[in-house]
Amino acid sequence: MTPALDVIFLEPHAEQLRRLLSDGKGVEMAAYMQFGVAQIGLDPWSGMSRMRLVSHDLVHIIDDEKISASSVHVSWNTGGYMRLLSESLSSDFVPGIVHTHPSSHAFFSQQDDINEAELARTAAIKGTRGLASIVLGEDGSVKARIWLPQDGVVDAHTVQAVGGRFMRWPTADARSLEASHLERQSRLFGTGFNPLVSTLRMAVVGCGGTGSAVAMLLARLGVGHLLLIDNDIIEKTNLNRVHGSRRADTERATPKIDIIEREIMLADLGVHVIKHRGWVNDPAMRDSLKACDFVFGCTDDHSGRIMLNRLAYFYGIPVIDVGLRMMASSAGAGHDINGRVTTLSPGRPCLLCGKVVSAKRAADEDLKRIDPVEHEKRKREAYVVDSNDPAPAVVTFTTEMACVAVNEMLAALVGFHGDDGMEPTRSRRFHACDDRFLSVTQAETCPICVSSRFWGRADVEPFLDMIGT
Ligand SMILES: [Zn+2]
Ligand SMILES: [Zn+2]
Repeated sequence: MTPALDVIFLEPHAEQLRRLLSDGKGVEMAAYMQFGVAQIGLDPWSGMSRMRLVSHDLVHIIDDEKISASSVHVSWNTGGYMRLLSESLSSDFVPGIVHTHPSSHAFFSQQDDINEAELARTAAIKGTRGLASIVLGEDGSVKARIWLPQDGVVDAHTVQAVGGRFMRWPTADARSLEASHLERQSRLFGTGFNPLVSTLRMAVVGCGGTGSAVAMLLARLGVGHLLLIDNDIIEKTNLNRVHGSRRADTERATPKIDIIEREIMLADLGVHVIKHRGWVNDPAMRDSLKACDFVFGCTDDHSGRIMLNRLAYFYGIPVIDVGLRMMASSAGAGHDINGRVTTLSPGRPCLLCGKVVSAKRAADEDLKRIDPVEHEKRKREAYVVDSNDPAPAVVTFTTEMACVAVNEMLAALVGFHGDDGMEPTRSRRFHACDDRFLSVTQAETCPICVSSRFWGRADVEPFLDMIGT
């Protein structure tokens, strides 16, 4: 069966595509692209397979490669195309061709069908996994499809651009939405907002104080598809901050994900909730994570966050990471209460460069999971750090940072605090009553956020190029 197809443009490439259209000055323009491929065997919401093409690179077709170009056609010689196919093959990318329609909206013309069928045949003979084709209309519309060697042509179900802003081009079958309960927010964000959020898929990783609040807020906002990931059962000491939790849940040792799912179901807002009891690095989570449009990192697990950090760049899935640090007042020193929200997307600094996660701590956590005896031994010898000491936690601060995180997602969708959308890093100092927007110095050698080698790379072996997973 043919898979559903999503096409994701990373912000740097989306920007190049916009320029391609304007640079043409009324003449059709063309470019080559390379796409990483995310194969999702089982999309947890649809129960079907799904393929995502994530943009990795874009190369303009230069003038001396062009045979002719006008406002209604462009043709180019095949030398560059054969080189594109060779590169795709050697790096396991799907090749793509882009052309513009400078005097109409985006659609595939009969001429496009004929030309592409020929190019797709060449690609198939060469042995690539398919040929992607994108057309850009002068009105900002975009159409995308893939020619598969076995399954013919598959039109993209969704096409989206991700970065500080998140943009999705509506598809013909965007379902009409019964959402009278969301009427008041469309008054602020416009009538397109509710249908858009209803189609989005968002993961909440870690369902404690922050994550439970994030999940409830997303459900209230009309996000149609939620994925809850957490391994823990509720404990009495969680009752001060986990939204929806009841004393009876602690007596029944209820998993946190079950509590949140129950509360969202009881609210009956039309949200399709999928839950995974387990650790986020569990290979069983991969298909579900890869199928998301946004991921909220609400865990203080360093190992899990290192994985999410990579996911954002490899798969073009914006990750919004939340952290809090609260210190009790010591004599005369006052309180120290800090919240942080970092947004991750290709072109922005990563969590490692932000010094938010530590590879050493992650390795210690992995050891604790894999070999608890050895971990205990090293802990006694003070070789490993164990963050098991309960840290202070107060519901007003955890919930407020959940709001800050979800608001960044809204900033991506509607740009309410500026056209750049999400702030890269916001640090809220509750004790000082201020927000600081920290500039992160990227490590020159960072393989994740400085080099673009992994951007849009999608599936590789091992997953996310992480050794030992
Ligand atoms: Zn065309
Ligand atoms: Zn980095």
